Amino acid sequence: MKILDELYSGKAKSVFKTDDQDRLVLRFRDDTSAFDGEKKASLARKGAVNNKFNAFIMSKLEQAGIATHFEKLLSDNESLVKRLDMIPVECVVRNIAAGSICRRLGVKEGLDLNPPTFEFFLKNDALHDPMINDYHIRAFGWANEQEVAAMKEVTFRVNDVLKKLFRDAGLLLVDYKLEFGRYHGKVVLGDEFTPDGCRLWDAETREKLDKDRFRQNLGGVIEAYEEVARRLGVKLT
Ligand code: 5GP
Repeated sequence: MKILDELYSGKAKSVFKTDDQDRLVLRFRDDTSAFDGEKKASLARKGAVNNKFNAFIMSKLEQAGIATHFEKLLSDNESLVKRLDMIPVECVVRNIAAGSICRRLGVKEGLDLNPPTFEFFLKNDALHDPMINDYHIRAFGWANEQEVAAMKEVTFRVNDVLKKLFRDAGLLLVDYKLEFGRYHGKVVLGDEFTPDGCRLWDAETREKLDKDRFRQNLGGVIEAYEEVARRLGVKLT
């Protein structure tokens, strides 16, 4: 398989075409950003840590019967994935209140959410990823009714699998964001699952071990990602 020209460059990953029309290469860079790209930095080792973390989680999800775009690790920073026709919405499930839900609804960080909540956001930095609902998605043609139902159902199934996986490693899965795409007509999990797109707290101390360390200038960002990886048994070298 040959890596061809860059198709797209995001805030933390670059996407390359390959000589297989159905496959892309994701290159995880050391770049990180927050607040719709307003705060940026480069963090040594981040690309490699996130690439391997993502491979580990996507493989666990596949083992649980969830269809993902992940195919295999190619190098420290690169993975081979199926080429999806991406749906421009973010699916967020929350088990514990943190982040934007606290600002929007005036609830205290740390509140248990029972049942877990589900939210859709439009993937659009210029509009600051506004919250949307099923009707917006269908009315604007971003996805159809069956696809909306599939995204919700799979996002909750991911919660069942990952809440337990993290809990067994002494971590609370506070919330996470997923993105989906179409592959030959089927809705498939795409993008990535890394501490960049979820919140993970130590189960005992509730110490933050995710991208909030970067957003809130807490320091030790990559050290926290590596600690999570170590607890899960992700091979980093
Ligand atoms: P919130 O709505 O509280 O900002 O985010 C909820 C969850 O989704 C958090 O785990 C956050 O990291 C993730 N998330 C929301 N929007 C984005 C985004 O644009 N990029 C990334 N990487 N994660 C996001």
